[in-house]
Parts: sequence; structure tokens; C-alpha cells
Amino acid sequence: MTGERTVALLVEDNAVNAELASTLLRKAGFEVYGAVNAAQALRLAQEQRPDLILMDLRLPDASGLEVVKVLRAQPEFANATIIAVTASAMRGDEELAVEAGCDGYIPKPIDTRSFAGQVAEIMAVRQRGTT
Ligand code: MN
Repeated sequence: MTGERTVALLVEDNAVNAELASTLLRKAGFEVYGAVNAAQALRLAQEQRPDLILMDLRLPDASGLEVVKVLRAQPEFANATIIAVTASAMRGDEELAVEAGCDGYIPKPIDTRSFAGQVAEIMAVRQRGTT
């Protein structure tokens, strides 16, 4: 990604959560696009070809995991880092997220001090191909 823009697609229907995560991602150097539902997420993904996708698993029109499955089925998103972000920290959620094609999982509420580091760590693992 040397010298190129690094694009993040933030999928989150809660405006307060979206603003916080968006601010942290911009500070970390990402060009951030926000989607508030599954349909918008799929459209923006096609338009912007994000390097990173942060996916709220509870969206108004679909499960975020369904969106992840649709994206992963397309070759142009095979190498994107996809991270599930959700408050539904029930046992098994992380496993389901990985099965759907996510590279990692960040629980809500996000920790403002460690969020960027968590994202960078999951992206690094993806790029090393050690998932
Ligand atoms: Mn939600």
C-alpha cells in the first residue's frame, strides 16, 4: 500500500458508534466511507474497493455476517481485511464471524485507546496470510 490511499468501509447503523470509529480510523490514516445498512455496504464496497471493512453484525436490513459471505464470494474482496464489530459478545459469535469470512472480531463498546492497534494487528495477520 505504499503511497496509495488505504480505504476503510465502516458499516454501522448507530450514528454515535459510527462517528467514533470513523474518527479513530481517520486518525489512523484511513480514507473512511460509512454505510448504515447492508445494501449501502454492498454498493460502497463495489465502488470503493476497501482494503478494510469493519462490519457491525446487527444491521437494519440484514445480518452483517450475510454481507460478509456475499463479499467473500467475490474475487475482488478475497484479500480485503474484514473485521466484525458487535456488542453481541455471545459465546460462539467470534467463531461464526470467522466461518463467515471475517479475519477477526472487535467487541463493542470499542476501546478508543486500543481500537486502531487492534485493527492494525488483524490487518497484519491477514497480510501475512497466517489466518
Ligand atoms: Mn447495529
